[in-house]
Amino acid sequence: MRKFSGFALAREAMRGHKGWGRQWASPEPRSDYDVIIIGAGGHGLATAYYLAKEHGVTNVAVLEKGWLGGGNTGRNTTIIRSNYLYDESAGLYDHAVKLWENLSQDINYNVMYSPRGVMMLAHNVHDVQVFKRHIHANRLNGVDNEWLTPEEAKEYCPPLNISQTARYPVMGAALQRRGGTARHDAVAWGYARAASDRGVHVIQNCEVTGVRRGADGAVTGVETSRGFIGAKKVGVVAAGNTSVIMEMAGVRMPLESFPLQALVSEPVKPCFPCVVMSNTVHAYISQSDKGELVIGAGTDQYTSYSQTGGLHIIQHTLDAICEMFPVFTRMRMLRSWGGIVDVTPDRSPIISRTPVPGLFVNCGWGTGGFKATPGSGHVFAHTIAQNAPHAINAGYTMERFTTGRLIDEAAAAAVAH
Ligand SMILES: Cc1cc2nc3c(=O)[nH]c(=O)nc-3n(C[C@H](O)[C@H](O)[C@H](O)COP(=O)(O)OP(=O)(O)OC[C@H]3O[C@@H](n4cnc5c(N)ncnc54)[C@H](O)[C@@H]3O)c2cc1C
Repeated sequence: MRKFSGFALAREAMRGHKGWGRQWASPEPRSDYDVIIIGAGGHGLATAYYLAKEHGVTNVAVLEKGWLGGGNTGRNTTIIRSNYLYDESAGLYDHAVKLWENLSQDINYNVMYSPRGVMMLAHNVHDVQVFKRHIHANRLNGVDNEWLTPEEAKEYCPPLNISQTARYPVMGAALQRRGGTARHDAVAWGYARAASDRGVHVIQNCEVTGVRRGADGAVTGVETSRGFIGAKKVGVVAAGNTSVIMEMAGVRMPLESFPLQALVSEPVKPCFPCVVMSNTVHAYISQSDKGELVIGAGTDQYTSYSQTGGLHIIQHTLDAICEMFPVFTRMRMLRSWGGIVDVTPDRSPIISRTPVPGLFVNCGWGTGGFKATPGSGHVFAHTIAQNAPHAINAGYTMERFTTGRLIDEAAAAAVAH
């Protein structure tokens, strides 16, 4: 892998950028691997990278049915924050934020991490109470989060309408200054490149169609559109398709899959300095480096694998955006799309071993897993390599849905982007 540096950039500029070469290898699959990761989204690729980097496990393949980053990783609105309510969540998401801070240097790829601040608007007394509770809980966990009055919120984000006669009046806001955004494609490409450089095989256009188990019940490999590939361990990291793949191994998951939509406007000059979320109206907005307003909606009401979604959902979101930011009323929207998010009953992920020996699963990130990508990959790699969870993901088991030891971010927030 050619290292990116100021010197390398200058040298390539002098010779017409002809020397960069391919960023990751596209090898033919081997007959077997120590570890197979199913799904080349950010979480799967990060897992492979940390397996190689931190645990010396390099005989690894990441199998992807489409193209890498073509799932939710390349479809999300890139909000990063760690101000969740429960101790387990603060541990996991803040672990990720700390990795984001140096990720570009670590993988030698600019992921454009931009800690521009995430502001969550309170529109009613319930929101105010919930967010203040979050702020206190976050501070006890060493996670930054602060309360802003409506005037302070407007100062932080000038386009915000704080008129108290608005349909969704702003009664205050919780601000996490370390929150922000990163470039989603770059996260997938950067991890793929860094993992490939350490010997990991990233294999696209290779759909897993079955999970094979031996006489003792343990995993022996996977059937794919390119034939059988053996493996001692298999990690499933397939977001909205996780329950389908786990079913192939005979494991029923506590998951439901829903479409979640996003859309972007025409590009305009920089006018929106931070990320703003409104859980009450299911709308969130930031401005991309290209200048587009990036807007996210809530999930559709019905389960589906369609990767589109109902028009009325994004119409409702745009109604709310125009009410909160009247200056955007005349903006034109360019594109909308959907991804399939996998949702657990308590809206927290599962990062765990499974009842099938050798089979591991990392799923249930729902509407909010992009922010966790580095932390999730880091602790899942540990879980696979050591056959035991990292201290940070010890509580994120499947058993919690039978023992009742939930990490109930569903009750803690209306939505968990
Ligand atoms: C519209 C939208 C907005 C969002 N906004 C945010 C946000 O602002 N902040 C945030 O933190 N999170 C957000 N999320 C959630 C976030 O995108 C996901 O939680 C995260 O990207 C999941 O990453 P992943 O790597 O697990 O999944 P994915 O990127 O979906 O990767 C899974 C991969 O598995 C592959 N796969 C599936 N089945 C098979 C098979 N049989 N064989 C081989 N490969 C297979 C898929 O093709 C896919 O590439 C959003 C999601 C959506 C859809």
